[in-house]
Amino acid sequence: KGPDPDLVGIVERMATVKHKILVLSGKGGVGKSTFSAQLSFALAEMECQVGLLDIDICGPSIPKMLGLEGQDIHQSNLGWSPVYVESNLGVMSIGFMLPNPDDAVIWRGPRKNGLIKQFLKDVDWGEIDYLVVDAPPGTSDEHISIVQYLQATGIDGAIIVTTPQQVSLIDVRKEINFCKKVGVPVLGVVENMSGLRQALSDFRFVKPSEGGEMDATEWALNYIKERAPELLTMIACSEVFDSSKGGAEKMCNEMGVPFLGKVPMDPQLCKAAEEGRSCFVDQKCGASAPALKSIVKKL
Ligand code: ADP
Repeated sequence: KGPDPDLVGIVERMATVKHKILVLSGKGGVGKSTFSAQLSFALAEMECQVGLLDIDICGPSIPKMLGLEGQDIHQSNLGWSPVYVESNLGVMSIGFMLPNPDDAVIWRGPRKNGLIKQFLKDVDWGEIDYLVVDAPPGTSDEHISIVQYLQATGIDGAIIVTTPQQVSLIDVRKEINFCKKVGVPVLGVVENMSGLRQALSDFRFVKPSEGGEMDATEWALNYIKERAPELLTMIACSEVFDSSKGGAEKMCNEMGVPFLGKVPMDPQLCKAAEEGRSCFVDQKCGASAPALKSIVKKL
C-alpha cells in the first residue's frame, strides 16, 4: 500500500506554514475561541503572517469573533481562499459554508474528519508564520485526526484554555494526558476568566426606585462618583470562581507543563469578541489585553 494521498497533499500544503499551534479546552464555554481569536490578532499585530483555522465543526464561533459573519469562501486554482480580516490575517471556518448561521451541523465522525482533512489540504494560506487551529472542546475523533495530520507536517504544540474551577481543571488533566499520549508538546495552560476585573466607571448606576432602599454598594459608588470621580478609573477585582484549591497554576506544577498566565474576566473583552474586534487596538480592554499580551510573548 502506497502513501496516503491525502496525507501527501497535507504535507505539501503545510510546507509553507512555519508554526502550527493547536488551541484546546476540556470543556466548552471557557473562552477557547476567544483566546484563539485574540492570539491571532496579537500575532498579526506583531507583523506575522497568520492563519486561523476553526475546526469546531458543531459550534463555529470564529467568523463572528473576527467580525466576518456572512462572508463566503472563494475558490481559485490554488484552492480555497481564506477570508481576510487584515492582509496578514486569514481565516477559515465551516461557519463560512453554512447558508444560515443558525443551521446545526449534525455530522458523524468520518464526515467531520473528511472536512478537517480538506481544510488542511485545500486551503491556500500562502507563506505564513503561524497557523492557529481552534479545535472543538474535549478529546474526540476530530482531535485524533487533526493531531495525526498535523504531526505528519510538524506541529509546535498545544495551548490548553481553562477556567479556574475544579470542574474545568479535571477535564484539563485529561487534555494534558491526551497530548502526552499522542506526543503533542503542551506549550502551556491559560487560566481564563480568572477573577473579574472591572473599572468602577463600568458599573451601572441605578436610581433607587421611589421609596425603595438604596443598597450599600450602590450608595458607595454614587458617593465616589460625586466626591472623587478620579477613583472611577480604579480597577475592582473579585474572584468569581472558587480557586481555593490552587487553580491551573498548581495543576501545571503537578503535571509538569508550563503555566502561561491568567486572563481576567473582562466585560470589555467579551464586548470585543461580540463585535469581532481585537482587544489590543484601543485602551478599552485594560484588564485583559496586557494579560493576553504577556501570554503571547511567552510562546
Ligand atoms: P469556548 O470557545 O471555550 O466555547 P468562547 O470563546 O466562545 O468559549 O467564550 C464563551 C463566552 O465567554 C463568549 O461570549 C466570550 O466572549 C466570553 N469570554 C471569554 N473569555 C472571557 C473573558 N476573559 N472575559 C469576559 N468574557 C469572556
